[in-house]
Amino acid sequence: MSGAPSIEHVDRANVDRTLSIERREPRAARYGYTIAIAAVLCALAARAALPPGLPFITFYPAVILTAYFCGLRPALVCTILSGVAVWYAVLPSNLPATGASSAAIALILFGIVVGINLILIEKMRRASDANAALAQSTRRLMVELQRETSLRMAHEQLAEKTLLLDLALQAADAGTWRYCVRTGRAQLSEQMARHHGFGDQPIEIDVERDWRPRIHPDDAERTLRDLGAAIAGRTKFVTDFRVFLPDGRVRWITGLGQVETDAAGAVTAVVGLSLDITARKEAEAKIAHMACHDPLTGLANRTLFHDRLDAEIARVRRHGATFALFCLDIDRFKAVNDTHGHSVGDALLRIVAARLQAVIRTEDMLARIGGDEFVIIQTEAEQPESASALAERLIGTVEQPIELEGHTLSVSLSVGIALAPADGHDPLSLYNSADRALYRAKAQGRNTFRFAG
Ligand code: GH3
Ligand code: MG
Repeated sequence: MSGAPSIEHVDRANVDRTLSIERREPRAARYGYTIAIAAVLCALAARAALPPGLPFITFYPAVILTAYFCGLRPALVCTILSGVAVWYAVLPSNLPATGASSAAIALILFGIVVGINLILIEKMRRASDANAALAQSTRRLMVELQRETSLRMAHEQLAEKTLLLDLALQAADAGTWRYCVRTGRAQLSEQMARHHGFGDQPIEIDVERDWRPRIHPDDAERTLRDLGAAIAGRTKFVTDFRVFLPDGRVRWITGLGQVETDAAGAVTAVVGLSLDITARKEAEAKIAHMACHDPLTGLANRTLFHDRLDAEIARVRRHGATFALFCLDIDRFKAVNDTHGHSVGDALLRIVAARLQAVIRTEDMLARIGGDEFVIIQTEAEQPESASALAERLIGTVEQPIELEGHTLSVSLSVGIALAPADGHDPLSLYNSADRALYRAKAQGRNTFRFAG
């Protein structure tokens, strides 16, 4: 789409300039009478320089030129002066035999010829002025037409842009809003009203009274603070917040705003968009969860386990605390897969995971780090007594019979335990200690636990 339509090129100054170029100055020159007298004198001088005969020969052009350039009145003055000049300076010497009556007839004839000429010249002048006026109004009309056309094009482009903006807002499921700084009230578009559970119609609300109670308590204060900062700094406003819908659902909204100022530069309002980003936030949360959780059991995965192990080791180093690291492995799990199939094996892993989770405290951490391998971090407990007690509970819960797809399955658990910092000062050595202890538990009959060291 082309840029914003401009009507500057047909602005009033341009129109006036264009028209003034075409406007013709009136022919009556300011010095018309002076020119008329000068013309008579020139004609008289020229007449004196010519041989006798044709007494008016130089006065006709004087009168006609004066009429053409200076208008009718100076031409009349020129005519009368020419007559007088001819009477006194030319005729007596040219017509000595015919006398005064012949001179008078000659002057009358001169007057008639000049008069006819003047009438013709005046008519011509009027026709010419009418033409000029017509040309001027034609040009004025053309300029007006051009301006009208530009205005119409500007309106059409504006309408097109508005339509496209509406489509973009619809496609993005975006709402619009306008917050009045003076009143603390906000006008919400239909879509924005829907985002906030205010119904399906555009609405005006009081932000403190109507908007704040619908916003997640963790987000409301921050969002209003961001809005205040945007107003104070005359900057853009961008923030994410959660809205509680009347049906109990939570919706994530991105609010974007831009301040409006008055002629004095004071901020009067903030206008902006609201975008429903719930789907994106849910996808992000899902991806973040998947990145650190085991998809089969929902337990923490190896990544989360290592983060926690690092944190616990750091705590041991800083505060001299202690904790126990458990390595767990189901005994003869392959046989379950081989006998009952992989899906039963999966279901059994889920059940075992749930049972393990049920016997640890919330502050402890259970993770699945391999096929049938689990790890537990037991913190802030009296060691080694707490570790022994937990190991017995873990073994006891796993050996309970499991009902699956009409079969009663029995499995057992082997456990290796390492105590920090006694069995390792860093994550790897501690894990290796626990793993070696697990190996010994397996080697010494399974369904039992062993401490490292
Ligand atoms: P052991 O007593 O020595 O631990 O023997 P085991 O049969 O349990 O063998 P091991 O622990 O070495 O192997 C675990 C088996 O778990 C290997 C693999 O076939 C199976 N496995 C690994 N991941 C999955 C899974 O996601 N689902 C199922 N059903 N089985 C898995
Ligand atoms: Mg195993």
